[in-house]
Amino acid sequence: MNGQDDLDELLMAHAAGRLPEPVALAVATHLALSPRARARYRRFEALGGVLLETIEPSPLAEGAWDRLRARLDEEEALPERAPADPGIPAPLRPYLPGSFGTLPWRGHGGVATFALPLRAPGYQASLIRVRPGRSVPRHTHEGSELTVVLEGAFRDERGVYRRGDLAIADASVDHRPVADEGEGCVCLAVMDAPVRLTGPIGRLLNPFVRL
Ligand code: ZN
Repeated sequence: MNGQDDLDELLMAHAAGRLPEPVALAVATHLALSPRARARYRRFEALGGVLLETIEPSPLAEGAWDRLRARLDEEEALPERAPADPGIPAPLRPYLPGSFGTLPWRGHGGVATFALPLRAPGYQASLIRVRPGRSVPRHTHEGSELTVVLEGAFRDERGVYRRGDLAIADASVDHRPVADEGEGCVCLAVMDAPVRLTGPIGRLLNPFVRL
């Protein structure tokens, strides 16, 4: 699974408003679907406030820290996942002309994609739908890849990712994501460089591949 450090870094950058639109969209979608991520995100926002108080010493600072800790303990007890809801997460709605079922998907072999209408030079943001038990071809990454599970689940060499999870991959990851055998999966994928196929046939196809 992801290093929590990478996820935390993304949440912090998002809290600071420092992420480009496609990356912010992935993080916002993750937050919309994961109560646990929202709790961590609020923690960073709160920590920002505490740090400001520390810069200007105040007798309240220590008490504020205790109150923050108490609140964090409450929030950590939240359920890890949002209840199942077939609706499109709010951050994604402005980018989609309809429900997942009505999108003009393009693809074959159990894997279909829909490119989000998002103008961000250097980035590619798309939905990927994989039928139950089917897989995305084995690949590695020239850059970074953020994948948020919107429906169903997938697994790769690192673990299982379920609805609301955000998977981070880069050049150090060579994987073959497989969709859940029962539900398949629909994911949001944001990349800052094309993927590079690494399977025996995939290598031959590389010049033509844009997932
Ligand atoms: Zn990948």
